[in-house]
Amino acid sequence: MTEKKKYKTIYSPGLTDLPPLPMDVPGLIQDFRHHYAHHLGRDKYSRSPRYHYQALAYTVRERLMERWSATRYAYHDSECKSGYYLSLEFLMGRALGNALLNLGITDRASTALLQLGIKLEDLAEQEIDAGLGNGGLGRLAACFLDSCATLQLPVMGYGIRYEYGMFRQRIVDGRQVEEPDHWLRDGNPWEVERPEYSQRVHFQGRTELFVRADGSTGRRWVDTRDVIAVPHDIPIPGYQNGTVNTLRLWKAAPTDIFDLGEFNAGSYPESVAAKNEAENITMVLYPNDASENGKALRLRQQYFLASASLQDVIERWLALNRRDLASFGEKNCFQLNDTHPSCAVPELMRLLMDEHGLGWDEAWEITSHSMAYTNHTLLPEALEKWPVGLFQQLLPRLLEIILEINARFLGEVAQRWPGDNERLRRMSLVEEGPVPQIRMAYLAIVGSFSVNGVAALHSQLLAQGLFRDFYELWPHKFNNKTNGVTPRRWLGWCNPELTRLISEKIGEGFIAHLERIQEILNFSGDADFRAHWHEVKQMNKARLAELVQEKCGVEFPIVSLFDVQVKRIHEYKRQLLNVLHVIHLYDRIKRGDTADWTDRCVLIGGKAAPGYYMAKLIIKLINNVASVVNNDPEVGSRLKVAFLPNYRVTAMEVVCPGTDLSEQISTAGKEASGTGNMKFMMNGAITIGTLDGANIEIREEVGDDNFFMFGLTADQVDELRPHYNPAAIIAGDPDLFRVMQLLRSGHFSMFESGIFDPIIDAIGNPSDPWMVAADFRSFIQAQRKVSAAYRDRERWTRMSIVNTARSGKFSTDRTITEYRNEIWKLTPVPVPPKRP
Ligand SMILES: *Cc1c(COP(=O)(O)O)cnc(C)c1O
Repeated sequence: MTEKKKYKTIYSPGLTDLPPLPMDVPGLIQDFRHHYAHHLGRDKYSRSPRYHYQALAYTVRERLMERWSATRYAYHDSECKSGYYLSLEFLMGRALGNALLNLGITDRASTALLQLGIKLEDLAEQEIDAGLGNGGLGRLAACFLDSCATLQLPVMGYGIRYEYGMFRQRIVDGRQVEEPDHWLRDGNPWEVERPEYSQRVHFQGRTELFVRADGSTGRRWVDTRDVIAVPHDIPIPGYQNGTVNTLRLWKAAPTDIFDLGEFNAGSYPESVAAKNEAENITMVLYPNDASENGKALRLRQQYFLASASLQDVIERWLALNRRDLASFGEKNCFQLNDTHPSCAVPELMRLLMDEHGLGWDEAWEITSHSMAYTNHTLLPEALEKWPVGLFQQLLPRLLEIILEINARFLGEVAQRWPGDNERLRRMSLVEEGPVPQIRMAYLAIVGSFSVNGVAALHSQLLAQGLFRDFYELWPHKFNNKTNGVTPRRWLGWCNPELTRLISEKIGEGFIAHLERIQEILNFSGDADFRAHWHEVKQMNKARLAELVQEKCGVEFPIVSLFDVQVKRIHEYKRQLLNVLHVIHLYDRIKRGDTADWTDRCVLIGGKAAPGYYMAKLIIKLINNVASVVNNDPEVGSRLKVAFLPNYRVTAMEVVCPGTDLSEQISTAGKEASGTGNMKFMMNGAITIGTLDGANIEIREEVGDDNFFMFGLTADQVDELRPHYNPAAIIAGDPDLFRVMQLLRSGHFSMFESGIFDPIIDAIGNPSDPWMVAADFRSFIQAQRKVSAAYRDRERWTRMSIVNTARSGKFSTDRTITEYRNEIWKLTPVPVPPKRP
């Protein structure tokens, strides 16, 4: 029995025609009290602030519900083309503040709560982050959904409802300790389970030839072990426009709670164990950023998402279009967030052929015109490959289809370049070797009509390097879509003081039209405005200093320069280079070289993948250096260093408004785009950065005077690599030599002799892929300029204003408008407001 058969249409007119809910203070108070007392069942003896949060969440949620169904009706009635964002990660963070802001009731909710003696900020602290992502890629998906709703685009997100999100990070003796993040423990008021839209997903089994009624033959997938995908929908409100889009997250469930056959045979434990096997699929997010671990469970997750989502879209399409799939490809577009969901290519082929009876050519026409692929990395260790044998065992029918796609594709290549067998070998979807593997990126490229990178340099490097052969074959498929961030969360919500200051000058419209924010340049000559700007920054620094005091026990004086690097810990992001600069500053203080000194507070934060040895050792080094520096009375307030534990979206909402200097110091050519860089810029921080990813475009927008550039370019990195000689660089640079001496001497590893040897060796290794030593001198010089600039408050404030003013390009509204016009070809659908 499939779960769906239990449900039938039970619509009765009048059931859903309700008057709109009040949006004023008395209405909010009344509903808040209703939920607190009648829904949650709390009374005057309740001691937990959690129920205040839950009561407000339900009050807000029901206001989203009415807009949500209005949006569904509007999309249904318009028969519009639809987009789908398929992603294994959505790093949403908290929902409450964003919902209040986008409904336009933050102030009213705050007033209503105050009348009940409750502070909104305290209540909001109760919400656990939805940490269903690792870092930039997952946060991008979340920002994209916000912009799609704000631009009123019919785009739905599809993802996985992990029971455990990104682990919580604690620091014990300077080392990272991971703790599971059971974020659903207290329930999730922002989701609606919709079992009536469940889908069945196949695994394992075998394929066989069969004969149809008309005598034709086909292949089918049989003896499968199935799992049910149950949708949990999350509302995605647009910015004050009546639109509420949907993020549909799939949870895995067993086909039946009890398998009766096994139950009767007396195998009760085995039948319950089978339930576990199904549920395991959506149990935990893999915590690897920028690398793949190749576990079979991960491939199961990927296929589970692709299959459930495609079946869901097809089912809705057929209900609307009475069994006709002919125009499916023109009216539906799937954006693949990296190769993670790229099983969607062979799975759509399978569904169209095996389940809906289309021929190969017809199915391929639809598939290859509805899939679009976004690449996120050039790092080889992050490129997904799955062993052919694993596919054979787990997804045998998919493997057949992939091999057929490959055979036809290689035929096309052979026709274009006759006799070029080397090229065939290079481009094959199957990498030959002792363990043949499927190259998922190539599968995604062959199956898609669009392939994009995420910043100008990245897209250019893809076409010239990694995907060069494919670019030569299909140049028209390749394009760039520079990333962005949503100004609602990353300015409006996280920095209300700066938002108010800007609004006073240019009105409130800039939050949904960020290009207008450059109008504040007209006021940068106004000393009063600059003084206000500085005051707001100091207030935000005080808020960040409070967080650092609470989480790290380190005092950050707000008169110091706040120098911040928060992002995943990875060697390519070069937190190590940052630490070398800190050690150099410490060395200068100890030498008495402190003329014209600028006091600095250096904050570093981020999670390391649990199996990434070097990244975890770098965290230990940061903490050891911090403890030496902070406890040396000779250093005093000249230098403070802290490692912020458990960096996540909610932490970034306090960190970026309070930052003066944004560290974006990856080895050129390694960071695809970066988005942390954009959040800092929007909040008036100035970047010290390499010419990498979107840093290049940030510098173009603000001009060289408002950006501290340093280091080798991507081309120079490639040129230097064959004769890179870090030992000679260290020997020839007295400052770097002293820093390495301090490291080697054990100054930061007292009683832990030799623990940092792997780091010392990596810096001195001629094959160091990240070339830390190569950029040291240039980095130190750029940091000197930073210190000098910060001492001139007027100059620094002007630079800060220019950075915010020029951040318009980095709104995801701009990014999504480009996706919509150049890839998705979607039309906005306005949602009519509900009338009382
Ligand atoms: C923005 C963001 C990122 C991405 O930061 P990068 O500096 O671009 O790597 C990662 N994690 C969180 C929580 C973020 O908010």
